[in-house]
Amino acid sequence: MQSKHYDCVIAGAGPAGIFAALELTAQDPDRRVLMVDNGHHIDKRICPARTTGHCMQCDPCSILHGWSGAGAFSDGKLSLSPDVGGRILDYQSRQTADRLISYVDAQYVSFGAAGTVHGIGPEVDAIDYEASRHNIQLIRCPVRHMGTDHAFEVLRAMYRTLEERPGFSFLPMTTARDLIVEADRVRGLVIETRGGQPETIYADHVIAAPGRAGAQWLTDICRAHGLETVSNEVDIGVRVEVPNAVMDHLTRHLYEAKLVYYSDTFENRVRTFCMNPGGVVSGEYYEGGIAVVNGHSYAEPEKRTGNTNFALLVSTRFTEPFDQPIAYGKYIAQLGNMLTGGGVMIQRWGDLEMGRRTTWSRLNKSTTVPTYTEAVPGDLSFVLPQRHMTSIMEAMRAFDKIAPGLVSRNTLLYGVEVKFYSSKVKVSPVFETALAGFYAIGDGAGVTRGLMQASVTGVIAARGIMGQSLS
Ligand SMILES: Cc1cc2nc3c(=O)[nH]c(=O)nc-3n(C[C@H](O)[C@H](O)[C@H](O)COP(=O)(O)OP(=O)(O)OC[C@H]3O[C@@H](n4cnc5c(N)ncnc54)[C@H](O)[C@@H]3O)c2cc1C
Repeated sequence: MQSKHYDCVIAGAGPAGIFAALELTAQDPDRRVLMVDNGHHIDKRICPARTTGHCMQCDPCSILHGWSGAGAFSDGKLSLSPDVGGRILDYQSRQTADRLISYVDAQYVSFGAAGTVHGIGPEVDAIDYEASRHNIQLIRCPVRHMGTDHAFEVLRAMYRTLEERPGFSFLPMTTARDLIVEADRVRGLVIETRGGQPETIYADHVIAAPGRAGAQWLTDICRAHGLETVSNEVDIGVRVEVPNAVMDHLTRHLYEAKLVYYSDTFENRVRTFCMNPGGVVSGEYYEGGIAVVNGHSYAEPEKRTGNTNFALLVSTRFTEPFDQPIAYGKYIAQLGNMLTGGGVMIQRWGDLEMGRRTTWSRLNKSTTVPTYTEAVPGDLSFVLPQRHMTSIMEAMRAFDKIAPGLVSRNTLLYGVEVKFYSSKVKVSPVFETALAGFYAIGDGAGVTRGLMQASVTGVIAARGIMGQSLS
């Protein structure tokens, strides 16, 4: 590290932070930018569960922490619509958002992302029509799929570019602790490298890009410095796994079928999310060892499986006086963990419908072979609130009308999948908080939920800092 005064310090090296750094140093490679992340350098990011199938509960978890953030082992789907993956349209016009998505997409491609875009063409009109006949909404969104293997390399290539820029430095295994504030303006950040002492870094601007894993930290420092945050919704549900044949006719054209259904009993919004054709279900651990389920897929044909998985999520926005949606989501996840001895639960649809738990022997009879072998058979109806369970079952039956075979005895449900959308930090259109010079971007700021929009917020904040136009 050079001397301790920077133009900008960025806390969090996920896609949001990376795109902020790329943009800040693009025209002026000498601009002094320091990035810190409490996870590993990209070259040291290894998830043992990806090769052995067994989660070692690493500290920090490599799935969520380190260079590339949650993007490193993500499925690498770039959603090329401002309607998907975040709330960018609350801050910028559709025209600006579209322009910035194209700009960021072109950068991903220049760093090696795949050339093919799914989700366009006349077949999509036919799927849309069929869905609407069954009260299902298809969210149209072109998708560029990098795959977990390629996403990792694309994000590594971004590091290689940044390390060549003289003004740029990166500190892995370093946690941002607190802001330094003087005369109503941010003046820097207190950081602590693992095993070291807290250190003060002075900077003209600070960008917080801590992702979902660091959302609580961001909420805490906002509260400590009197910055307003608003509770976001929490999405709770399951991950569904079926043979590829059940979803093929949708995923072949869309890659990801983004479907929304309003449940019959509660009129709750239930949506499919993060669909992975030929993919694998995986576990994800949050601080405190909370195990939740997720999924991803590889681009390389030899790594693809015979199953498709996707999340089925019920969104809830709590109203006053309750303002702890993250704690609520964690509580539900912990309930599932408690019943499995600390891991993710799996249940066959047939057992759920019959009101009985799945046992190892029942699971062994399943013709859909689970790709997540760590999951422990159990009964999800002991975990999910009735509102969620009922809404999920009603949505499954609705989606079965356009994906026959979804409602099958051997369909696998994993739980719990929880999307902790961070409290939304009150920010300007360029993501500057009420504290001058302090910006909050990406998933951790409650603004985005995906790679593309997280990356776009990085570009916007950087241009805001540099006083540049967004066009
Ligand atoms: C398994 C999986 C699959 C996914 N698949 C897709 C997909 O296909 N398409 C898609 O669009 N999205 C996908 N996502 C979501 C996507 O990865 C995130 O939306 C995106 O990475 C958010 O970017 P971010 O920069 O805001 O935060 P993150 O990527 O979460 O990065 C935040 C970084 O900040 C660091 N950090 C946190 N707190 C601190 C602190 N106090 N000090 C220092 N560092 C800190 C963390 O270690 C982390 O590295 C997936 C996520 C997962 C987990």
